[in-house]
Amino acid sequence: LNFQPTQFVTSAATISQLPADDGVEIAFAGRSNAGKSSALNTLTRQNSLARTSKTPGRTQLINVFEVAPGKRLIDLPGYGYAKVPLEVKEKWQRALSEYLQKRESLKGLVVLMDIRHPYREVDQELLHWATDSAIPVLVLLTKADKLKPGARKTTLLQAREAALVFGGDVRVEMFSSLTKIGLPQAETIISDWLNQ
Ligand code: GDP
Repeated sequence: LNFQPTQFVTSAATISQLPADDGVEIAFAGRSNAGKSSALNTLTRQNSLARTSKTPGRTQLINVFEVAPGKRLIDLPGYGYAKVPLEVKEKWQRALSEYLQKRESLKGLVVLMDIRHPYREVDQELLHWATDSAIPVLVLLTKADKLKPGARKTTLLQAREAALVFGGDVRVEMFSSLTKIGLPQAETIISDWLNQ
């Protein structure tokens, strides 16, 4: 699958405003600053498809992109930012878990975690929701360039081991938007999901 023609379709303030639940979609989620926007841009070979930002926590929308007709990428707002009021956080968590449970077209979830801080509490929660709903997950350990090759490999193996706890289909790969480490692996998995 060629990701280059990916185009922005729409922004939604809530999950209920997403496009019709048909075709196939893959959602991207991660803590603020995990490198999600950069990963989306890298995957689609576009410099500014998803907005990268140094101001995490600003009011964020769900951005919808289309790789090809009926094949969507869903950029979920970054989560876990401390300054977001608890009430807003809880509301979003409910919406997110419902999305993972009910969205028929959702065929995979990409969870981005900084390779230096994997499996924070919110990440684990998300992984549980996804595997409970039988949604296949690809964990991308982002900013892999920040670690030396040896440490990178060790972290990857540990993260794969840790993924077993969630019980479902959870794959783990390294990723770097800077050096493109892991890009082919991510592309293969996401293409397979979108092509079903
Ligand atoms: P988001 O909040 O998850 O969308 O994260 P961004 O994509 O905006 O990235 C957050 C910060 O991490 C920015 O300063 C990026 O330049 C940096 N970043 C993102 N990906 C990488 C990467 O692969 N390597 C390195 N070294 N920095 C990265």
